[in-house]
Amino acid sequence: MVKRTVDTNFFNILNYCLERSPFYRQHFKKTDISMIKGIEDIKYLPFTTKDHLAEQSEKFLCVNENQVIEIATTSGSTGNPVMLKYTKKDIDRLALNEHLAFHNAGINENDKVLIAVTIDKCFIAGLAYYVGLNSVGAASVRVGPRSPELLLKMAEVTQPTAIVGVPTYLDKVYDIAGEEGFKKSLGTVKKLICIGEPVKEKDLTLNAIGERLRKKYDSQIISTYGVTELAASFCECILSKGGHIHPELIHVEIVDDNGNPVPDGVEGEVVATTFNVEGMPLIRFKTGDISFIIDDGLCGCGLKSKRLGPVTGRKKQKLKIKGTSVYPQTIVNVMDNLDYIDNYVLIATSDTALSDHLEVRCSLKPGVPDKSGEIKAKLKGSLKVTPVVVIDSFANIDLIQSSVSKRKKTKFVDRR
Ligand SMILES: [Zn+2]
Repeated sequence: MVKRTVDTNFFNILNYCLERSPFYRQHFKKTDISMIKGIEDIKYLPFTTKDHLAEQSEKFLCVNENQVIEIATTSGSTGNPVMLKYTKKDIDRLALNEHLAFHNAGINENDKVLIAVTIDKCFIAGLAYYVGLNSVGAASVRVGPRSPELLLKMAEVTQPTAIVGVPTYLDKVYDIAGEEGFKKSLGTVKKLICIGEPVKEKDLTLNAIGERLRKKYDSQIISTYGVTELAASFCECILSKGGHIHPELIHVEIVDDNGNPVPDGVEGEVVATTFNVEGMPLIRFKTGDISFIIDDGLCGCGLKSKRLGPVTGRKKQKLKIKGTSVYPQTIVNVMDNLDYIDNYVLIATSDTALSDHLEVRCSLKPGVPDKSGEIKAKLKGSLKVTPVVVIDSFANIDLIQSSVSKRKKTKFVDRR
């Protein structure tokens, strides 16, 4: 049944793009469209990249400007913002996506949910959560991500049952509240819908920050991963076993470095095709994120759809060390688990065109003796190669972390 729905949607979207999108008319010019008999033939179509969108975004628009009701932006591959335009139907689709997400995560009209992410500044995610919560009938409290004090104050008066937020921010909020303050204002919270940063290991168990939040908030941790360009998110259900892919909204492929599809369970780049998007539909859009598909039949929640595993890396950040592929996120997962680490930064340089070099520079908590041997062993266990580990001072690492951007400290400095 699902297959037919997907096929119908796929042909509709393909024809729609060919008719209306100047970009796709040109992009598919050299492709023999008659070869495409079903969704399984999607592999014969060329990819759409972030560069295409950044350079020709106006050519993607399939409707008249007067049908556009929302304009958002995403940071493009060139660093310049890319304008994304949505029709009324697109916002309804976004609401349906988030309706399914919240409903499957067990959120309903009895819930009060703090939205602790940005809802303005031309971001789409916060708006998507808002319309989704409206759709399931839950009460939204739009506290945003900038003031822990406002969050705590509003929580105290509204007694929320769930929070949508970025893991490191929620961690900070707990620390600012303290144990007593937390009980007073956030003691009623039972679910954290975590976005923007991974909270899961590859085997779907919680990573260090996920586990920390689960303990501090005594709450269920639900992971969601969204892609602005696709106007879609993949949210875990109440069983928390990977983000459900809703076939009526999106088709997902995982491809290797050469662009060839890989089997379910194998890691590769997430490539997606949007269904039922009116304004700027995308066909075979390369997200740059690395993940894998989980297909174990019927999920315990009752949904048959395939699921997307945690994002284990970003394609741009992939390192080749002694012939082995390494993603910084794997190292972050290991380092965050070591309680004697005070601060750390990963520095990538390039030895030759074919090989990268990685240094893990870290500071230890006061009084902790040199642990570089132990850190190396732990990293080798996860990476299969041993990076260089250097012990340094907190201040020096802090300086390196701020060297890339004045606005945001980074744990990964790419000097290749
Ligand atoms: Zn499920």
